[in-house]
Amino acid sequence: MKRQIASPIVAFIMAILLDGKKLSQKICATLKSKIEKLKGKKPGLAVILIGGHLASQIYVAKKEKTAKEIGFYSEVHRLAATSEEKEILNLIQYLNESSKIHGILVQLPLPTHIRTQTILNAVSPLKDVDGFHPLNLGRLLIGDPLFIPCTPQGVMELLKEYRIDLSGKHAVIVGRSLIVGKPLAHLLLSQNATVTICHSKTQNLEEMCQSADILISAIGKPHFIKNSFVKEGAIVVDVGINRLNNKTVGDIDFDAVSKKASFITPVPGGVGPMTIALLLQNTFKSFERSLS
Ligand code: NAP
Repeated sequence: MKRQIASPIVAFIMAILLDGKKLSQKICATLKSKIEKLKGKKPGLAVILIGGHLASQIYVAKKEKTAKEIGFYSEVHRLAATSEEKEILNLIQYLNESSKIHGILVQLPLPTHIRTQTILNAVSPLKDVDGFHPLNLGRLLIGDPLFIPCTPQGVMELLKEYRIDLSGKHAVIVGRSLIVGKPLAHLLLSQNATVTICHSKTQNLEEMCQSADILISAIGKPHFIKNSFVKEGAIVVDVGINRLNNKTVGDIDFDAVSKKASFITPVPGGVGPMTIALLLQNTFKSFERSLS
């Protein structure tokens, strides 16, 4: 007698997309309608781009375009890669004092001959809409933030929009940079998550990730986080922006992981647009403060 082989029923349950594009559009629409009511007054954003780093040029162009569409006053200062520190510091000083400018962003990374922290320290903490000034990072640490770095703030807003309760959950962040991993850890902690930060020297990274209820990757390696790293039903957030075969992809192997996660951010269309929306929201906040 022939053995009956049950036909394989493959149940692919796709994760719910954490749609950063949609939420960022909602945030931008709110800002636009607020600006329309201002009768000509405009929040002003100045972006400093040093050198011709291709990805940076694209990011800056996107920021400028979105800022203008919403009704912001926007200045982009494009400086040569060979610019001296002094020249950049003078420009920052000028922007710190300009009444038209409420937010200053220095696009990172900077050329290697420039001391990044020296430049970031020069931005007035009151116009530091990227939240990288030591005073703003310190305020975040003590739980009294003025400006929160935009990417981690964007991640938190996205989790909030989808009513993801963080309390008591184990959040694992892969990447410990000052612009993503470290501030994000504090934000998650402030929402009562239990946080583990991993980095390039972490041992048993795969096991660490497997224990995550919320897994966030910010390392900058295409498709580094595989299906096997992810616990069934985990919430997965991909901060990475990488180029692979002429396409923009994240750190997460999206096709495989989206069949295992309960929620997941796409790349593009996840954290990226949230970063820009939060930058503009922070600039608007700075503008409002300047009026009071
Ligand atoms: P970064 O400063 O280079 O930091 C990368 C982090 O990843 C470091 O902490 C590094 O560990 C860790 N890492 C690298 N390889 C690893 C590995 N094999 N295993 C475990 N950890 C590893 O980068 P970043 O500026 O934070 O950016 C990270 C990614 O996010 C990039 O793709 C970037 O383009 C993207 N990004 C996206 C947005 C957005 O708006 N979506 C904003 C900012 C950044 P060590 O500290 O030990 O070196």
